[in-house]
Amino acid sequence: MAETTVKVVVRCRPLLPHETDKDVKNVSTIDEDGGRITISGRTHDYGNESVVGGGDRHATMYDRTAKPLIAQLFDGYNATVLAYGQTGSGKTHTMGTAFDEAEVDGVVPRAVAEIIDRRQKLISEGRGCLVVCSMCEVYQEEVRDLLMECDEEEGPKALAVREAPNGGGVTIAGLSEREVSSIEAVVALTREGTRRRMTAATNMNEHSSRSHMILSFRVEVAGGEGRSKTSSKLHLVDLAGSERVKRTQAEGTRLQEGIEINKSLFMLGNVIQRLVELQSSEKRKGGHVPYRDSTLTRLLSDSLGGTAHTCMVACVSPGDVDINETLNTLRWADKAS
Ligand code: ADP
Ligand code: MG
Repeated sequence: MAETTVKVVVRCRPLLPHETDKDVKNVSTIDEDGGRITISGRTHDYGNESVVGGGDRHATMYDRTAKPLIAQLFDGYNATVLAYGQTGSGKTHTMGTAFDEAEVDGVVPRAVAEIIDRRQKLISEGRGCLVVCSMCEVYQEEVRDLLMECDEEEGPKALAVREAPNGGGVTIAGLSEREVSSIEAVVALTREGTRRRMTAATNMNEHSSRSHMILSFRVEVAGGEGRSKTSSKLHLVDLAGSERVKRTQAEGTRLQEGIEINKSLFMLGNVIQRLVELQSSEKRKGGHVPYRDSTLTRLLSDSLGGTAHTCMVACVSPGDVDINETLNTLRWADKAS
């Protein structure tokens, strides 16, 4: 039987104080043991350990998403964790990629802690281990390096995405890579990247929901004593908000941004759906996966499918005002389950 390489976890946040103040009604019911979420009386089933409700669940979310992938990363397998959902559904909270809060917690900080921990352990055993971090965003199909020094006004420059010859994968020309050996170093880097992303934005706090942020780690473990050297990658992705653009309210850049976001999320959905189909079919190796259709899927192509492991975190809001977006997100999650 083919191993499962794509899995999905649905994360429903609690109602927020400003929502209860405005009389927003909670229309979601979570059955964690059964892996089910019911929205306005209709039940969606994602299976065992696939649905998480409540407020502070960072440990549970980490255990069910990135944790198993980190073990595989150190065995040489590539992996991707993607947070999908409308703006305000809890993607950044779940991934812990705000990095500006008093308490840094979430899937990413926990994954980083484990990567650094494993690196330390290997080194104390006398084995070499190199961890290299990079951080970029995809905005309107362009890739921007978030760790590169740049003009404050203009923001990071767009970099070219190149296909290496002979199927050697995709590279981002000139992308900064920084070797890291402590949690503090990674937090400092990601803070720097997050700040750069904000200052470059004409629309400040809105910008973060209009681009995909990709934090990547390359891990190299030296060989020796009959073991061969391994090299692998982990991508942690906070996707752009999945909300539909209302043509009547958005125009110009806003409308264009929305169209590009919806398009790239749709392409990502196609790739994931295809991988799930191939997972359950015999011709797993030969099947075509449409990676080339968008910048995001091109960048993630070596860490989605093949021997790589992918975890999709579908974030939803519980309120009645968000029902349509919630149902859209669950439909998206269905592609991966
Ligand atoms: P997104 O990144 O999807 O736009 P955020 O992560 O910024 O959404 O979350 C929107 C708001 O909801 C934030 O104020 C955040 O603190 C809050 N929030 C999200 N998830 C939870 C949760 N599980 N428990 C409590 N508050 C949450
Ligand atoms: Mg966010």
